[in-house]
Amino acid sequence: MIINTDDLSKKDEQYVWHGVKPFNPESTIIAKEAQGAWITDVKGNRFLDAMAGLWCVNTGYGRVELAEVAFDQMKKMAYFPLSQSHIPAIKLAEKLNEWLEDEYVVFYSNSGSEANETAFKIARQYHQQNGESGRHKFISRYRGYHGNSMGALSATGQAQRKYRYEPLTQGFIHVTPPDIYRSPYQGTLEEQSLAAADEIDRVMTWELSETVAGVIMEPFITGGGVIIPHESYLPRVREICDKHQALLIIDEVICGFGRTGAKFAFQHSGIKPDIVTMAKGITSGYLPLAVTAVRKEIYDSFKSSGEYDHFRHVSTFGGNPAACAVALKNMEIYEEEKLIERSKAVGAVLKEKLQDLDSHPYVGHIRGIGLLIGIELVKDKMTKQPADADVVNNIISYCKGKGLIIGKNGDTVAGFNNIIALSPPLNITDDDVDFIVTVLKEAFATI
Ligand code: PMP
Repeated sequence: MIINTDDLSKKDEQYVWHGVKPFNPESTIIAKEAQGAWITDVKGNRFLDAMAGLWCVNTGYGRVELAEVAFDQMKKMAYFPLSQSHIPAIKLAEKLNEWLEDEYVVFYSNSGSEANETAFKIARQYHQQNGESGRHKFISRYRGYHGNSMGALSATGQAQRKYRYEPLTQGFIHVTPPDIYRSPYQGTLEEQSLAAADEIDRVMTWELSETVAGVIMEPFITGGGVIIPHESYLPRVREICDKHQALLIIDEVICGFGRTGAKFAFQHSGIKPDIVTMAKGITSGYLPLAVTAVRKEIYDSFKSSGEYDHFRHVSTFGGNPAACAVALKNMEIYEEEKLIERSKAVGAVLKEKLQDLDSHPYVGHIRGIGLLIGIELVKDKMTKQPADADVVNNIISYCKGKGLIIGKNGDTVAGFNNIIALSPPLNITDDDVDFIVTVLKEAFATI
């Protein structure tokens, strides 16, 4: 079949609304097929997708086995609501427990935003049931992202994504992120990370602990600019939550499923979250699915409420049987191909190979963990003034012209949209890694 690519482009512009992207048909990749880490567009151009879509295609494109599992499940039973149950939902929940290395009960939904909304409702109701109905507030960090729905956006700490939709949900309070490169604190990496954590302690006291339901955070801020605190940060946050009896909600929507070289990123620090939210890498984007995993003791405390009131929350498509079956198979792929170990090893190699860029006048800071890597661009290494948007955009378009898709992150309002992000599929080949490094170095040589 001959595809008229100009026609497609016109129809795309006419009918499809793309968020967060300039209205520019010229710059839109209309993808046709994909394999491994590579996308082919309708014109036949090939791109190495070093963002794994939106940080999600962790096991790579073209997995026929995932398509087959979905096909088989849809033939057998396409849908059944989770007010009852079905086999893939049960099997996946059991498998997730194994990966979480503790007892959690899971609530299924379809997106990271929904998983976080579910977590907020569970936390508020949990406290109400324990006779503490005043506990309604959530603390999160500036620069963090938690989703596009009103509650998840309220938890988000990026003003540029929020200001047009305000007023948002009440009761969301933000604190300083543990950004070591731009830290307002003094001392070693550890001291600065702990100081950032201690701000949560102070804010909880000032807000009155009895009004705080929980804290939500990613183990490593991803979309807000790849922020990697010292390993002592999360344990200190856990201690602070315990001290104030607030629930700790860990958003693993991007960090989970091997992205950082661990099954879940909180596992690097040995803490036990009260609630873990996940999406993206659970199915590697093959089908929509999200999970809110809740510590067993918290779930148990819901059982004593009335028949309907135990949790008035339902998701029609959440836990779709084919999506659960795909997730289960996808988790097998991570295990069989040792992709989590690969993320750790290849991420270290990629970061090492990028170190040459450190001496480039525009490179302020290179950081990362596993296959989550950020390069922060500055105008001046001494003042750390963020590089102009043009500089970052030129690098991105140079790479695209050479067949490499990379990301751009930060927070425009705060002046930090100057971080290049790399988050490729975990099964990228060694040649793919070299391609990323070569093209990025060439791109930097042009500025
Ligand atoms: N949490 C984090 C950390 C995310 O990065 C995202 C999406 N990028 C979300 C939540 C929301 O996920 P979704 O887009 O699936 O609603």
